[in-house]
Amino acid sequence: MQEDCIFCQIVAGVVPAEIVYQNDEITAFWDQLPAAPIHILIVPNRHISSVNEMEAKDAALLGRLMLKAREIAVEQGVHDKGYRLLVNVGKGGGQTIFHLHLHLFAGPHLMAIHG
Ligand code: 5GP
Ligand code: ZN
Repeated sequence: MQEDCIFCQIVAGVVPAEIVYQNDEITAFWDQLPAAPIHILIVPNRHISSVNEMEAKDAALLGRLMLKAREIAVEQGVHDKGYRLLVNVGKGGGQTIFHLHLHLFAGPHLMAIHG
C-alpha cells in the first residue's frame, strides 16, 4: 500500500467508497464524480501507478481487470447495449489518480465521454 494514494486507501477500507466488488486482487467502486449514469472504477489492490509502470508479469492482471469489468457490466444489465472501458495513462492522457484503474462507463450519450 502506498500511504498517500487515495485508491490504496479505498482498497484498504481507510477511505469510504461505494464498493461494487472486492477480492484479494481487485476492487471495483463507483466513481465519486460520475461522468455517465454508470461510472465504476476497477483497480488492482496492489499499487501500480499506471500502464507505464506495468511489468510483463502484470499482463494477466490487466486481463482479469477487463473480465471483471465485463462481469460488472453484466450485473448492471448494460452488456447487451454496450459500454466503454477506458484507461488514462499519464497526465497528458488525462490520468489524475496515479493508481492504475479501468473506467467502466455505461448509459446514453457515451460518445461524448472520455473520462
Ligand atoms: P483518471 O482521470 O485518473 O483516469 O480518473 C480518476 C477518477 O477517479 C475520476 O473519474 C475521479 O472522479 C475519481 N476519483 C478521484 N478521487 C476519488 C475518490 O476519492 N473516490 C472515488 N470513488 N472516486 C474518485
Ligand atoms: Zn495506490
